[in-house]
Amino acid sequence: MPDQSIIIDDTTLRDGEQTAGVVFSLEEKIRIARMLDEIGVGELECGIPAMGKEEQNSVKALVDLGLNARLITWNRAVLSDIQASIDSGVKAVDISLSVSDIHIEHKLRKSRDWIREQLKKALGFAKRHDLYVSVGGEDASRADPDFLVDLMIIARDLGADRFRFCDTLGILDPFSTYDKVKYLADKVDLDLEVHTHNDLGMATANALAGIRAGARFVNTTVNGLGERAGNAALEEVVMALKYACKIELPIDSSRFVELSKLVGQASCRPVPEWKAIVGEKVFSHESGLHADGVLKYPGNYEGYDPAEVGLMRHMVIGKHSGRHALQNRFGRLGIKLETFEAESLIARVRNAAQVNKRPLTDRDLLRIYYADRIVA
Ligand SMILES: [Zn+2]
Repeated sequence: MPDQSIIIDDTTLRDGEQTAGVVFSLEEKIRIARMLDEIGVGELECGIPAMGKEEQNSVKALVDLGLNARLITWNRAVLSDIQASIDSGVKAVDISLSVSDIHIEHKLRKSRDWIREQLKKALGFAKRHDLYVSVGGEDASRADPDFLVDLMIIARDLGADRFRFCDTLGILDPFSTYDKVKYLADKVDLDLEVHTHNDLGMATANALAGIRAGARFVNTTVNGLGERAGNAALEEVVMALKYACKIELPIDSSRFVELSKLVGQASCRPVPEWKAIVGEKVFSHESGLHADGVLKYPGNYEGYDPAEVGLMRHMVIGKHSGRHALQNRFGRLGIKLETFEAESLIARVRNAAQVNKRPLTDRDLLRIYYADRIVA
């Protein structure tokens, strides 16, 4: 049974586009939003209306699509930002405040009291306009946990719908994420959202840890696009929840590769072939033992069926191939290789792969096969 209680808030269109050098056209935003909606993502963070008219128009265009997913915008805790969101037609806002002393002192040059007051003003304004509100704690991972509790209580009492715990710099590990999120979950009765970054390569793991600790909302981006090293990747979070945590979300994963290619093109950041979950080559098998194991029963070396994410299996013939894989490939080419033939071919195949530094194509294989027969 899919778990309906965990909601993905995908921020490809906000944090993803915030990546240095990435710009989406309105047409691309619409295609990405539509596809995210079609596969069942519950919420889309779709822009920053305070940036100006163009951004407001693109948010309006997304609102006009009438998607099932809730659209939410990013705002500073500033009334004019929230007004720009209201003018764009969204009914939900993220109100972001710096919450670490480092940011409060060195970025804002203000005090904790000033943050409390900003929160009250901005949240009060948003609630008077009947908005759904996530209060975003920027740099929460470096903040005093008790100050976060303080802010969460203020937020809850003023009607906020949830609190976003941001590991803005991506400096936590899953254990510290769990501890910090659990601390907040135990202290305040307010829904939590986790926003994790990949600077130490742990965005997905930290997102899962946050969910384990009680967060109901989790931020993702397609391909893990986002500031610096990026965010938790949508495709990784969904598949890791399913296979590592046994939590299945009501999301159609079979279009992950299609979605990944779309965002890869729109962001001009092509997806590496080895990218977890959606990389073209992550279900490629070459080494003799693995290839033989997969040919006998895919579950021997595949954690799930590649079709689940829209991929195909590739049996690669190369330096590490064994006899069974070779016989299988030639069989598909209409040639029945006897065991002794396969054994004599394998050395030439390995040598060709070594010399060319790549796997062999069917043409390469046929050339070697016929050359071998002429010599014989
Ligand atoms: Zn972020």
